[in-house]
Amino acid sequence: MIMLALTLLLLSTGCALRGKDASAALFAMDTYCTIEAHGDNAALAVEAARTELLRLEALFSISEPESDVSRINASDGAPLEVSTDTAALLAAASAVSTETDGAFDVTVEPLVRLWGFYDDAQRVPAESEIRKSLSRVDYRRLLLNGRTVQKGADQSVDLGGVAKGYASDRMAAVLAANGVDGALISLGGNVHALGVRPGGGAWRVGVQDPADESAVLGIVEARDCAIVTAGVYQRFFEREGVRYHHIIDPADGRPADAGLISVTVIGSYGARADALSTALLVMGEEAAIAFWRSGGHSFDMLLVTEDGRLLYTGTAFTPHTSAYRFAKIVE
Ligand code: AMP
Ligand code: MG
Repeated sequence: MIMLALTLLLLSTGCALRGKDASAALFAMDTYCTIEAHGDNAALAVEAARTELLRLEALFSISEPESDVSRINASDGAPLEVSTDTAALLAAASAVSTETDGAFDVTVEPLVRLWGFYDDAQRVPAESEIRKSLSRVDYRRLLLNGRTVQKGADQSVDLGGVAKGYASDRMAAVLAANGVDGALISLGGNVHALGVRPGGGAWRVGVQDPADESAVLGIVEARDCAIVTAGVYQRFFEREGVRYHHIIDPADGRPADAGLISVTVIGSYGARADALSTALLVMGEEAAIAFWRSGGHSFDMLLVTEDGRLLYTGTAFTPHTSAYRFAKIVE
């Protein structure tokens, strides 16, 4: 059975919507999505953001035959022209792949398919099958040149680890262009905060405890940033007492097993934060901390370890939990 859970719990910051407030809820990109905004023009802004989400969903869907992603995957390795958004998303994904030495890899599709995560046919594949699929996974063989994309003939892409982050960036841009004072977008584990919350001040976003859907780890004070969580509890199946989840380590073709159960990234760009959260979960605690340090602290993160620790960087997050031993990582 596939277990889906909302990663981030939005604290109810003004549920009773006032005159200038507007909100929308919909199912898109395989998850429950909400948009709320306040200020002049909020209703039109929310509607425009909703339309933008549905437009991008149509481009990035892996199951819709006419989508850019399906056209890329159906191509035999010949160059193909895609939309500006798909090209921008692939460029953002490629950048993170390079930075993380392939811990994030948009060409991971053959492995995710092999483990049965697309069609609810989860199973543990044989080592020989994993080896065969692994040979098709390599982001360096996906070539981008403007709006032209070329993949290896045997390759397929999966934007599941980055598309929601990209969509939140575009939706935030649409909301800002419509002149709202503040907005909060939630696409499953992807939250994007724009401007101020109703009444002023930063938005307050609760980060879900990976072990308890109804509890939070703490609060992020968020203003003009994305807060994205990747967790091993979001989608998984069990066989003979072993749990297998949906984030695959492209180094060995198996569910990531580096000691982290959840990674939250706080950053300026949703697409990058989304891809990074997935990558850091694959990399594990030590490599994630080294990566954060080497990148000049260009983002903040929260790591939850298998052995009950919560490690975090920066000043935006304040822990509120007694379920974990927490420690702040500095310099
Ligand atoms: P997220 O929820 O953002 O962590 O993304 C998870 C989704 O990304 C999975 O359901 C897969 O579709 C895809 N995925 C799994 N492993 C990887 C990986 N190592 N690199 C890129 N995408 C991945
Ligand atoms: Mg991600």
